[in-house]
Amino acid sequence: MSQIEVLKDRKSQIHLKGSEPFEMTCDRHSLSGSVSQRACVFCGSRVVLYPIADALHLVHGPIGCAAYTWDIRGALSSGPELHRMSFSTDLQETDVIYGGEKRLYAALTQLIDQYQPKAAFIYATCIVGIIGDDVAAVCSRVSREKGIPVLPVHSEGFKGTKKDGYRAACDAMFKLVGREDTADVSPFSINILGEFNIGGEAWIIRKYYEKMGVQVVSVMTGDGRVGEIGRSHGAALNVVQCSGAMTSLAEMMQKEYGIPFIRVSYFGLEDTAKALYDVARRFPDNPEILTRTMDLVKNEIRAIEPDLKEYRKDLEGKRAAIYVGGAFKAFSLIRALKTLGMEVVLAGSQTGTDEDYRILEQMCDEGTVILDDANPVELSKYVIEKDADLFIGGVKERPIAYKLGVGFCDHNHERKIPLAGFIGMYNFAKEVHSTVTSPVWKFAHRRRRV
Ligand code: SF4
Repeated sequence: MSQIEVLKDRKSQIHLKGSEPFEMTCDRHSLSGSVSQRACVFCGSRVVLYPIADALHLVHGPIGCAAYTWDIRGALSSGPELHRMSFSTDLQETDVIYGGEKRLYAALTQLIDQYQPKAAFIYATCIVGIIGDDVAAVCSRVSREKGIPVLPVHSEGFKGTKKDGYRAACDAMFKLVGREDTADVSPFSINILGEFNIGGEAWIIRKYYEKMGVQVVSVMTGDGRVGEIGRSHGAALNVVQCSGAMTSLAEMMQKEYGIPFIRVSYFGLEDTAKALYDVARRFPDNPEILTRTMDLVKNEIRAIEPDLKEYRKDLEGKRAAIYVGGAFKAFSLIRALKTLGMEVVLAGSQTGTDEDYRILEQMCDEGTVILDDANPVELSKYVIEKDADLFIGGVKERPIAYKLGVGFCDHNHERKIPLAGFIGMYNFAKEVHSTVTSPVWKFAHRRRRV
């Protein structure tokens, strides 16, 4: 595997720290034939929007696009669960020839009557963009008839990268903001952006802020509700996690409603503590918030530190490979792995920017491979060459790790335990420890050859 050459046109998106001055190409369309790990525009939109649990999500396109369901990315809800249903207009050959607007109208009206959602998102997929259905016109007609927001999401898969899907989702969601009354919103209040509650993370983070005395108006979009998004313009601050996905919404809200935003991460001890302190310091008129934050951070860290020290004894010097959606998550993972004494030998992302990769390069040790928009062959090659003990990624990286006989930790779609916050760091350390120290890897083909 290590003899496999990287495609010539991919070389500028791979950097080996220390081998040459840092320069990387990124933020561009995937190379044809490279079989990128990156998801399509529609997938980007779906990731952001579908945790809104009381909305209808209708995929306008062939049934294949709708395969990306709640079972793949199971965002949790504390109430309604309409988002778990997967609806598609199931376009057929005749619709491609004669247009799919009638089918869309029929599906939408039937579903709204049956499920009474608070809003509906209609995702335009590749074929809809090609045949030119006027999705916006159908949406506004149904919205008038049914009296709920029916929002087109312009997420045709071919028209860019997953990042363009995030943007399309933010454009659609922005149309919900400002529709509700904000009379009961406190001056010490925030919205949490870019937290999708895959394993219950939004609940953990919300609880921290409540303990600090900060009101959470809306989580966008984990355990999300249409009504909460509607009054989110009353919050004093937007706190953006997973900045690649939601920064554009934060920017729109800043421009339209004057709400400032900060970027944070809730992965790892350092980043979680920093996030909470950064928010607390935004409310100097209420010094109690900062006092409560200090107590909270101290107590939470004290509760898990002894266990982390124990795990670290076994994990010291072990090697990890990281491949994630947004680079911001990679920063936090590197810090969290350092807390556990581990070395990062590969770090990459699907959607990193030039600035992201410069930060990543500064954080990594000499010899670390930094990758943008990788494919399975490149990931396999470097996991083997760098002799990684652990691969951290998402649903598409899991089979690569297992085929190579390397332990895997899901930090994306499929996880069932929360990895955010202080308790999340404990869960992460426990999972990493049990994976890396499992005796099963001794019997893997790769290890037997070594
Ligand atoms: S690339 Fe196009 S056809 Fe494929 S899932 Fe995305 S929207 Fe559907």
